[in-house]
Amino acid sequence: MCNLCAAREFVILSHRDRYGYPVQAHACRHCGLVFLNPRMTADAYGRFYDGIYRPLVSAFHGRLIDARTIQAEQHDYAEERAEFIRPFITNSARQTMLDIGGSTGVVAAHFAKEFGLQGTLIDPAPLEVEQAQRLGLETITGLVEQHDFATRRFDVVIICQTVDHLLDVAGTLARVRQLLSDNGVLFIDIVDFRAAFLRNWSVEAAIKIDHPYYLTERTMMAYLRSSGFEVLRSDYAADHLHVSYVCRPAAGDVDAMPTAASVEEMLREVRFVQNAPYRT
Ligand SMILES: [Zn+2]
Repeated sequence: MCNLCAAREFVILSHRDRYGYPVQAHACRHCGLVFLNPRMTADAYGRFYDGIYRPLVSAFHGRLIDARTIQAEQHDYAEERAEFIRPFITNSARQTMLDIGGSTGVVAAHFAKEFGLQGTLIDPAPLEVEQAQRLGLETITGLVEQHDFATRRFDVVIICQTVDHLLDVAGTLARVRQLLSDNGVLFIDIVDFRAAFLRNWSVEAAIKIDHPYYLTERTMMAYLRSSGFEVLRSDYAADHLHVSYVCRPAAGDVDAMPTAASVEEMLREVRFVQNAPYRT
């Protein structure tokens, strides 16, 4: 069943990913959501991230990428994103922040310092959480959908370079809506699937086993609106690949789904990239 619109009619876009794994990317015919189907279980992803993931991406990119080397990249990212979110966050009434999937805590620590917030980080990877703890953040090892926050609410929630890795986007956003205080702010960003297949001129090159979801501007806006968020500002990142959103709580919009015409347009673009030779 489609995680965004609950329809069941899918079209298979591709049969392997960029690393050569035999995974299928499906698109929902009704809303255009692209996702891996079937996908690994949470346990299997746990084992994948534990031993295979960092060596695999290191080999793919031809340089060492591990919990240590990513921290420099995360710092640059944190500075850039802080400037984007700053106009919406400079309010002394905001005190607490939750970083979902915050990895080693570089981004959360930067935001906490920059905006004077108490930072809490939740991530399923124990080694990365250990690093985050050293930066003075409150840490939780686990998944936001499963952790019991009791009556706690947060004034700022950030989901950085994480939504594509989630196993249940709708469930997570519903949870975030509950955890956000009434005048809270959500920051979230996506890898734009359309940008990814256009820049590689290949659908397979845009698919990777660690991303169960492939969001576009249309499907992400639909997710946010239907989950009860109003988008205050969007941003095309300097890398031309990521798209970021600052949102606030709003009434859930039941008419938020992408139109049939927009789904047809996306499928036509996919077929064009798959079949039209690219010349520079
Ligand atoms: Zn759908």
